Amino acid sequence: MPELPEVETVVRGLKKSVAGETITAISIKPTARVFPRPDEFSRKIKNASFETFSRRGKNILLGLSNGYTLWVHLKMTGHFYYLPKSTPTGKHDHVVLTLKNNDHSLRFNDYRRFGYLKLFPTSTLHNQKGLAELGPEPLTFPCDEFVALCKSKHRMLKPALLDQTFIAGIGNIYADESLYLSRLHPMRLTDSVSNKKLAELHGHIQSLLKSSIKLMGTSVDTFAGVNGQPGKFQNYLKVYGRENKPCERCGKSLTRQKIGSRSAHFCPKCQRNSR
Ligand SMILES: [Zn+2]
Repeated sequence: MPELPEVETVVRGLKKSVAGETITAISIKPTARVFPRPDEFSRKIKNASFETFSRRGKNILLGLSNGYTLWVHLKMTGHFYYLPKSTPTGKHDHVVLTLKNNDHSLRFNDYRRFGYLKLFPTSTLHNQKGLAELGPEPLTFPCDEFVALCKSKHRMLKPALLDQTFIAGIGNIYADESLYLSRLHPMRLTDSVSNKKLAELHGHIQSLLKSSIKLMGTSVDTFAGVNGQPGKFQNYLKVYGRENKPCERCGKSLTRQKIGSRSAHFCPKCQRNSR
């Protein structure tokens, strides 16, 4: 699933491609997951222009000129593609937005169809379920507050980092990578870790996310930017997807273990579960 750096890459790509563009026609297939229902959705966004481009956690927020915001979650395989109008509509292009001033259209493509597009008045957007309960943004969350948050909970590190109400935007890849760099076992309890170690973890989370954004995200699955280009951060992963390969630090085989409902990748030697 696209995580913070991938979603940020999409937001930046959208801004570059469609800022100020007006939506003149909307085509929604019955396979699309949109809210409200397609006829109302289309009526509300027709003739609106894209004005603001932002992200909250893994959510894309596109502010329109008519007081509405288009809220998009890519989920597993959602993509935005900005393509010449002449490109035939693909099987998985569920929503196609025709733009006024150029010869391109914006398409929402989603092979697995978990992604969605929702429309809300901008004034009530942040009260909506799915946005209202999100935790802090890791790139702007101060270190001392992160440490205090971890100390206030008694739960395993990995599931906590994945919990969007704990901290927003981190998924399996950046959770595993930041715990590896911090030499923390994914099952360590948040309140059992020293302040110094938690500060270290906070630093690794921020630097990983920033480095990945610079490289346009991680493409281990189907992720690609709005221009169709894959990211490059997969070349720098130390543990994610590397089970049974040697740890770069100690040479021991990296392991993959189910923790909660998700699998965690870590080094059993460098990341001991000592409490
Ligand atoms: Zn190791």
